[in-house]
Amino acid sequence: MADHQPFPPGARRGERPAAVSACPSCGDLAGRGYPECRFCVELVDQVWLPDWQALLAAEQLSEGGAGERELAELVLEDEVGRYSWTCTDWAMTLVRCSACDSEPATGPLDCLRCTMAEAARWSWDHTSSGRITPSEHALRVARAVLRAPHRSRDVVAATWRLLIPFLLVGEVTTVGQVQRLRAQVLAGQYEDLAACATHVRLVGLPEIFWRRDEDAKGDHQVRLDHPRAPRAAPVEEQIPTEA
Ligand SMILES: [Zn+2]
Ligand SMILES: [Zn+2]
Repeated sequence: MADHQPFPPGARRGERPAAVSACPSCGDLAGRGYPECRFCVELVDQVWLPDWQALLAAEQLSEGGAGERELAELVLEDEVGRYSWTCTDWAMTLVRCSACDSEPATGPLDCLRCTMAEAARWSWDHTSSGRITPSEHALRVARAVLRAPHRSRDVVAATWRLLIPFLLVGEVTTVGQVQRLRAQVLAGQYEDLAACATHVRLVGLPEIFWRRDEDAKGDHQVRLDHPRAPRAAPVEEQIPTEA
């Protein structure tokens, strides 16, 4: 085995897009088509894949080769923090859940093994003492949720779908901003939010955003200026991956 520092950082080898742009394939902001749109998949996965490729190279294995799956199993069985979180995530795409045969953590909600795989994944973030930045953590959560949207409430998946193009370019979204976005999605504003071309407009300037909308749609929009939306998610419903 290659020599490892504990909690090697992830997602710092790959090319990040310089700016948010429209996906030439699905037409949405690039990343939002994940994991259905091939272009969006390539864009998102290029943040993860170089770490896995470096690990393969260190182990003198080749992509798609016989040893790759065994390495993935090894990575997932090893103690938390031995490999980067990106390698953990990538390894999860190469094996199957022994109980439901889905990719681990993407099976039906009642699959106990998937739930355990999910918990193991996030233990990296919670025990790494800051080796993953808030922006990287958010991107990790977004990808994980979008790979298994049926395991989250619709509003949670929709909110990460809105955010992922901006997370890919390194934007930082606070927990409060995520919660406010969810409230807006719950209030039926997904399409309007999806039309925001910048992160600042999406999460940072709701007053300006809604003021513009009020003109178009009437005063029933006024209440949306308040971050405390009436249907904001109860704390216990939030996925335990947002810390
Ligand atoms: Zn796309
Ligand atoms: Zn399962």
